[in-house]
Amino acid sequence: MEKPILKVENLSKIYHTAKAEVIAVSNFTYEFVKGNFIAIVGPSGCGKSTILNILANLDSASNGKIKFEDNIKIGYMLQQDALFDWLTVMDNCLLGLKLQKNLNEQTKEYVVNLLNTYGLGDFINSYPHVLSGGMRQRVALLRTLVLKPDLLLLDEPFSALDYITRLNLEEEVYNIIKKLKISSMIVTHDISEAIAFSDRIYVLSSRPATIKKEYDLKILFSSANNSPSAKRKNDKFKDLFAQIVEDLK
Ligand code: ADP
Ligand code: MG
Repeated sequence: MEKPILKVENLSKIYHTAKAEVIAVSNFTYEFVKGNFIAIVGPSGCGKSTILNILANLDSASNGKIKFEDNIKIGYMLQQDALFDWLTVMDNCLLGLKLQKNLNEQTKEYVVNLLNTYGLGDFINSYPHVLSGGMRQRVALLRTLVLKPDLLLLDEPFSALDYITRLNLEEEVYNIIKKLKISSMIVTHDISEAIAFSDRIYVLSSRPATIKKEYDLKILFSSANNSPSAKRKNDKFKDLFAQIVEDLK
């Protein structure tokens, strides 16, 4: 077995509010192997975003251990694209490089190439408000990708989009990150998205989030083409969907 790039052991999170203590995550344990696409699916409010925020170091754990491989770079893509409306598409994409003091002709060219490759070439100098929801999410993704993350964390990245845009973008994002050999971890309440976008699914209990069940989709689907659209067409898709609905009850 390959060495994991991330190990999470007994992660717990308790929020203290004026009125009560909210246990958001309890004893969450798992290992992440390089190249994996994992999905964490669970009901709304069960603690999914909390887990990602802790992994992205935006929040702290109350208990447990998190061990990343040395020098690993994490990217984060959210439901809301969080683009800056007063910056052009290009400047939005350059922001991370500027912050890292890594903006030079070469990195700039990489950004232009990514934008051209992924259908945003004509919008390099446009402002976000002229873009559709799907295009905005694509910019948000590219903004993260220019930093060449090893692991991409995705928090319900498609849920604000209409259905068709969502299917298209799901396929596109999958292909992009596969091609760039980025590992990914998506959290979602959408069972079909979890199946389409991952090769391993962890089903969470309702709050506090803890792992209830695990599925290995590489074994279940065992097909050469496991892109989201291929999986959505596979007969096994609906059986697994029904099974996870049961798990979540
Ligand atoms: P999910 O992403 O699965 O919908 P979250 O991780 O956002 O769920 O939230 C899990 C639980 O923790 C919810 O009950 C939420 O109200 C609570 N929670 C999240 N953030 C905070 C916070 N900063 N303070 C207090 N409670 C919080
Ligand atoms: Mg959430």
